[in-house]
Amino acid sequence: MRIAIINCQNVKDDCSCGSTGCMSAFDSRTKSFARYKDEDVQLVGYNSCAGCPTLYAYDKILKRVKPLVEFAHAEKIHFSSCMMKMCPFVQKYKQVIETAYPQVEVILGTDANEGDALDIMPDMFHRLLTDTDGDISDEFNALMAKAAAAAAAAEK
Ligand code: SF4
Ligand code: SF4
Repeated sequence: MRIAIINCQNVKDDCSCGSTGCMSAFDSRTKSFARYKDEDVQLVGYNSCAGCPTLYAYDKILKRVKPLVEFAHAEKIHFSSCMMKMCPFVQKYKQVIETAYPQVEVILGTDANEGDALDIMPDMFHRLLTDTDGDISDEFNALMAKAAAAAAAAEK
């Protein structure tokens, strides 16, 4: 199975996300990639969206999908969890891609499932997108430290 990922251009460019959460989930076959646990899968490409499509150009995303499908032959495209949570165009994008490439399935999510870590995204990304000093690495490190402290407290 050949897999590709598309993430949000705002998150990549303005928040400087290196997609490490997506990569880690793919490598460990966890979160949205748990479905491939017993399959032979390859990550064949990664791209960000093409930016705001306005109301008139949802198919703008096809520019970013084309190399993933026509060159790398991706069969599944995962939209990143940040995109799944925050992008108002996500369902339109899915529809446009699956219409243009009926052999491709678009799956919503990468490093988080609905209902878990995604819940912190609105606040975190609001800070990152509006605060020019914001840093996604610091945010994630703080989250991991908080989770570790909670786990340690639960063990006592
Ligand atoms: S169109 Fe969606 S995925 Fe692309 S930058 Fe905007 S919010 Fe992010
Ligand atoms: S899902 Fe997480 S790791 Fe992947 S691009 Fe979005 S914020 Fe970055």
